[in-house]
Amino acid sequence: MTRWEPTRSADADSTPPTASAWTVIGRGMRNRCPVCGEGKVFRGYLRVVDNCEVCQAPLGSLRADDLPPYITIFVAGHVLFPPVLWVEKAWMPPMWLHMAVWLPAFTIACILLLRPIKGGTVGWMARLGFDLPAEAPPGPQRTDHA
Ligand SMILES: [Zn+2]
Repeated sequence: MTRWEPTRSADADSTPPTASAWTVIGRGMRNRCPVCGEGKVFRGYLRVVDNCEVCQAPLGSLRADDLPPYITIFVAGHVLFPPVLWVEKAWMPPMWLHMAVWLPAFTIACILLLRPIKGGTVGWMARLGFDLPAEAPPGPQRTDHA
């Protein structure tokens, strides 16, 4: 395994591992490269770029796996479930009305939350470091991940 290191420059305070975890998570949540803060994390809705277009950080080597959907469901559930209970207690609407309102609300909330949460996860993982297989340099040949 080789370890990718960001290019040290006059701006060294803003590159991992010296940038704070909140800085790199915030950059990822705003679809900005956690290393340089300028390139994009995603091409498309959730596909992570192989390399940052600005600093060449191998963002595609970071595998967020199931953490972003887990966090998304956790947050959406905790934000929307109390209103579900409150509406049920206050008005007791029929079940079809609950389904007509809350299923789309949960769907929209998850769609809106998943991308920034995945970006934040990628930022956090970048803060932890990039470990790359020695004979497989990062590059556009890697297309097997979502
Ligand atoms: Zn970058």
